Amino acid sequence: MSDELPAGVERRQFDGEERLATRGEPVYGEPTNEGWRAWNPNRSKLGAMLELGMETGLAGGDDEMVLYLGAASGTTVSHVADVAGPTYAVEFAPRPARDLLEAADSRPRLFPLLADARKPERYAHVVECDVDAIVQDVATRGQARVALENARFLADDGRLVLAVKARSEDVTREPGDVFADVRDELSEGYEVLEYRRLDDYHADHLGIVARPR
Ligand code: SAM
Repeated sequence: MSDELPAGVERRQFDGEERLATRGEPVYGEPTNEGWRAWNPNRSKLGAMLELGMETGLAGGDDEMVLYLGAASGTTVSHVADVAGPTYAVEFAPRPARDLLEAADSRPRLFPLLADARKPERYAHVVECDVDAIVQDVATRGQARVALENARFLADDGRLVLAVKARSEDVTREPGDVFADVRDELSEGYEVLEYRRLDDYHADHLGIVARPR
């Protein structure tokens, strides 16, 4: 397992068990201990990628700018905003976005955006260009296309950290075939550095780390 965790993400004890954790207000009923909150890899694809030792390239720190696509009610993006600098969280469904706003209450660096990640021109005036990382977990058809459309925001040396859900692309196909097609499509704009199945935590999901070409 890699020790390359972003600054601010630590392994801490919760009820006698060592778990990934960040410092911040709890968001989804996760255990807390002296200001630390456990990061549940079963609820978070990024948490699973970190648990599995993937080199996400996320560094943490106030200077790190992140664009998070598919923020839902803030489970994962709240951990990201606990350790990173400005974190733009895009979510198009109003209901989870309401909870996301609550998660942002105690996180001044978390900026929820009610927007469609397939239409980045709608938030281009808000998101500063040259973000250090795009973290994407939209679980919708066309996941590679969403990543390609948003590449415009990524710094030349930035990273795409992508979770792909096979069943969102096509429930009838073998996940491995779907993942191969997604990697192939991504290569239009990205160089894939690492990929790994997340099945230990999320069935039929692939984690991908890539950089812009
Ligand atoms: N990333 C979240 C977490 O770990 O806390 C879970 C995300 S959930 C699997 C996928 C989310 O992506 C849903 O909330 C869905 O509404 C959102 N989504 C799907 N397509 C989207 C799009 N085109 N633009 C913005 N959000 C989208």
